[in-house]
Amino acid sequence: MQTLLRIAIQKSGRLQEGSLELLRESGLSFSNGKDQLKTQARNFPVEVLFLRDDDIPQYIEDKVADVGIVGENIFVEKQKKNQLIRKLDFAKCRLSIAVPKTDDYKSVQWLQGKNIATSYPNIVKSFLKKNNVEAGIHEISGSVEIAPGIGLADAICDIVSTGSTLLSNGLKEVETVMQSEAVIIATPELERAKQEILDKLLFRIEAVKKAKNNKYILLNCPNDAIEGITSVIPGMKSPTIIPLKREGWSSLHSVVDENDFWEKIDQLKAFGAEGILVVPIEKMIM
Ligand code: ATP
Ligand code: MG
Repeated sequence: MQTLLRIAIQKSGRLQEGSLELLRESGLSFSNGKDQLKTQARNFPVEVLFLRDDDIPQYIEDKVADVGIVGENIFVEKQKKNQLIRKLDFAKCRLSIAVPKTDDYKSVQWLQGKNIATSYPNIVKSFLKKNNVEAGIHEISGSVEIAPGIGLADAICDIVSTGSTLLSNGLKEVETVMQSEAVIIATPELERAKQEILDKLLFRIEAVKKAKNNKYILLNCPNDAIEGITSVIPGMKSPTIIPLKREGWSSLHSVVDENDFWEKIDQLKAFGAEGILVVPIEKMIM
């Protein structure tokens, strides 16, 4: 029987789309019916299990799944036998402490002797310990932000991305406890055949991620600007340079990092680059 790597992803929620997209961009093709619990990729030895995100670390510890995609917050909170393999650059958020807007919060000491409602008791516990504060922890699984308003707790620790939910519940964010993004986690005891499948998949993910962070750039420039332009956009090995019919001019092709893209464009223009075209890259293999 063929070995399959079992990957657990969120059944529905904020991680689902990004997880499916990542697998699809890595070349895996599978059907994804709404109420499906699992599906097998048609062209890669992978089986995808659709689960609640909170359950994924336990399923991995129990070896029901080999690998999973969860928020780093869930990975850290659950403290299961899982190892972090790679951060994935999506579902970015933070876990923060929030208190009623009207409270006069000055430092973490404010939390001393108070009650904190959260779905992340372990993370809150270590945050309090690190700050030498003793506080009660009230674990609830959802709608944490209403806890202070109904008298269940003095403060909360929950996921924040824009802060608008906090605001509409009369709360203000006062401490960041951790930053989070989607991550791949895996059992630390992966059998060899499965490890090989995972390595293949990670190689593809790497190519997709690199491509997302880079753009292909084409431009025309006077030949005496080639050296200067090459120092700005050196590319993977070196730029490709093709002579133009126009005497003394060349077309130069390279790749440019998305992060300092605009700054580089300005430098290129200063060197005399013209007709600059920038196009997305689908996959990038070094
Ligand atoms: P499930 O039913 O699977 O338990 P859930 O309600 O616990 O789902 P979601 O709200 O879908 O979980 O969030 C899943 C993960 O997405 C969180 O653990 C966190 O890592 C991330 N996340 C949550 N809220 C945001 C946000 N506003 N912006 C970005 N990422 C977020
Ligand atoms: Mg959940």
